Amino acid sequence: MSAGLCIEHRVGLADARAHMVDVETTVFAGSDTRFDGSLVLFMAVWAPGSYLVREFARHVEGVGCTRDDAPHIATKVRKNAWTIDARDARKITFRYRLYANELTVRTNHVDGSHAFLYGAATFVAVEGHEAVETLVTIDAPDGVRIATALPEALPKRARPTFVARGFDELVDSPFEIGQHRERTFDVLGVPHKLVICPGGAAKDDDLERIATHTRAMVEAEARLFDGTLPYDRYLVQLHLSPRGRGGLEHRACCTLLANPHALDTRDAYLDLLSLIAHEVLHAWNVKRIRPAALTPYRYDGESYTRTLWWFEGATSYFDWRVLRRANLCTPAEYITHLEGEIAHLDGTHGRLVQSLEEASFDAWIKLYRPDENSSNSSVSYYRKGEVVCALLDLEIRARSMGRASLDTVLRYLWDHFGKDETPIEEGALQGIFERATGTALGDLFDSGSARPASSPMARPSPTRGSRLNATRAPKRPAAPSR
Ligand SMILES: [Zn+2]
Repeated sequence: MSAGLCIEHRVGLADARAHMVDVETTVFAGSDTRFDGSLVLFMAVWAPGSYLVREFARHVEGVGCTRDDAPHIATKVRKNAWTIDARDARKITFRYRLYANELTVRTNHVDGSHAFLYGAATFVAVEGHEAVETLVTIDAPDGVRIATALPEALPKRARPTFVARGFDELVDSPFEIGQHRERTFDVLGVPHKLVICPGGAAKDDDLERIATHTRAMVEAEARLFDGTLPYDRYLVQLHLSPRGRGGLEHRACCTLLANPHALDTRDAYLDLLSLIAHEVLHAWNVKRIRPAALTPYRYDGESYTRTLWWFEGATSYFDWRVLRRANLCTPAEYITHLEGEIAHLDGTHGRLVQSLEEASFDAWIKLYRPDENSSNSSVSYYRKGEVVCALLDLEIRARSMGRASLDTVLRYLWDHFGKDETPIEEGALQGIFERATGTALGDLFDSGSARPASSPMARPSPTRGSRLNATRAPKRPAAPSR
């Protein structure tokens, strides 16, 4: 294939009221060169951070193609891929329409008021050229705001144009386009932007309050590591809608979906803050301290790892710890939260059936596909992961006579793996924990991650479990939310 290939996407929103998006992708062979074979264009089938095959290509329709501006054929070769004969052509243009009417953090939602476009659900990649720098131009009405973690292309173009260093960064940088409300603030000298959509859903006071508390949480998180931030800019996209709850992490941004009532009561507000703390913490834990099984991302199908209990469970453990460290909740509120998680876990029969490693591995078919039997047969690696991390923290502190804690492990992971993004192999976590803390932990890992039947940590306590189960409502839904 020719050197110098470059890719430009153009997004049209003329039919936004019908929830339709027009996407035009042009692949250039490069100056004074021609393609020497076929191109394969494909869409991702899943969203990194959300372990379910979502088949984004099912929303594609009206595919068309030109070759050096003359009509041409794109042949569909897989459920999510097209091949185009490009031999001797200078440029290939591929067009399609997308139906976008699902407001979650990992799907597209477009209507007359705004457009939220998530990269994996929107753009095609060129097979074999996923690392190529890519431009995205948004054809939106004048006066709308565009919030994305991507930098604008320079020199500025007539229409807003952004640049991604390859498909990974494009997927990792959703676009919020519309009349949202914005607030910018610095944390440790790094610019942050908070965007709330729809703009009318929050008052200036709300924006100020969330920004102030986010700054405190990000500072507390930086202190868990080396006191600095791993990114040079950060964007928080918050959608307020009664339709759901969730979050998705990215390297320099996160997307959150919360109920508008999250701003009304203290419990709901603390839950929202914990969601923000959780997604920002992922900028370290999973985005840079990352499992080898997800490195690089393979967008064509499932990627299996047994380590989500750490990458999601520890992130869940530290999100509320960060609230406490930033003095945003009281010790009593923290204990009440942890008590609720333990009680919910205690009342989940699936903890006796599925281990944490099994829950991680089977996220694709279990956690993200809940049904009426889920609580009987499976356990959340978020909730049990959080509780197990609390137990590991206490036990490490006890065994090391206070010299080490789970903070020590997190910092070690950052220093030895996260900083230079050395992927963590499957099965390596126990050794890493032991090296970080100077403490033998084999018995804890065996009990925490092995089948629950042999697990002292997860052993049933029928009397206590059934009593707590009868008196406590779940604080979080069974389906994954963050
Ligand atoms: Zn998470």
